[in-house]
Amino acid sequence: MARPSITVIGSLNMDLVTVAARFPNQGETILGEQFLTTPGGKGANQAVAAARLGADVRMIGAVGDDAFGQELIRSLQNEGVSVDCVKSVTHGSTGIAAITISERDNRIIVVPGANHALTPEDLDPYESVIAESDVCLLQLEIPLPVVEWAVSIAHRHGVRVIVNPAPAQPLPLVVLEQASFLTPNEHERGILFDKMDEESFVDQLIVTEGAKGVRIWQDGQERLIPSFHVPVVDTTGAGDTFNGALAVALAEGKALHEACRFANAAAALSVTKLGAQAGMPRREEVESFLA
Ligand code: ADP
Repeated sequence: MARPSITVIGSLNMDLVTVAARFPNQGETILGEQFLTTPGGKGANQAVAAARLGADVRMIGAVGDDAFGQELIRSLQNEGVSVDCVKSVTHGSTGIAAITISERDNRIIVVPGANHALTPEDLDPYESVIAESDVCLLQLEIPLPVVEWAVSIAHRHGVRVIVNPAPAQPLPLVVLEQASFLTPNEHERGILFDKMDEESFVDQLIVTEGAKGVRIWQDGQERLIPSFHVPVVDTTGAGDTFNGALAVALAEGKALHEACRFANAAAALSVTKLGAQAGMPRREEVESFLA
């Protein structure tokens, strides 16, 4: 089978990860157990997830002109992700995420930096890149006008576009209408349809519900595709693995429920390991897990 081609338009962040026995209380200082810097950002994470699962992946995004930015670009190259559409900006530092992990839970602060320097005009030179993709994949860590413009380009060219509405925020009606699939978790689902009639969009909706599974609607029927039972080490990046894997499976022509099962398997494997990108499985692992 030809390798599917996927364009990810989204964020690149350096994750600054602290592991602690518990979270500090207000005004309290505690000692942590471990600290590491790892490449992240929902865009880059989903690009890596898709590349490890066998797709040709191109990333469109922005980093700062600094050491973190160079490291992020190198790490994507090492994963085989094409970075010729990642721009380096001088007016903003590379995005970071300050992540604290404690006993199966995590808390995250994202400073967008260069990710927010991306403009709709930045996409115009890459219209043919988007048009020639099997699937486009977006999240909400870049400015909403960029998301809106990207979705409209994909829609105009008949390219399927997955919008992962994370971090949670409402979306303009036109994005909801033009997205082929929307992949909120339960929390994001509530915010996405806060003032909107969810009913009109259920055909596009794929709700991830953690250890429970994934909810889809087909021919008016609600259906839960169950998750796989695995020992949980770190759920950071589970949603990103799910989205990257879903993009690959749909680009390969799998039916929606099959694509969700494949993505559930990839995401389940990812939660058995520490780290967002570090825990993302390769194609062979997912296939032997499913066999
Ligand atoms: P997010 O990480 O964005 O909050 P979820 O928690 O819904 O999203 O997780 C995304 C997907 O990851 C789930 O649909 C499921 O496939 C997988 N997943 C998450 N947590 C677990 C778990 N504890 N066991 C197995 N799979 C999980």
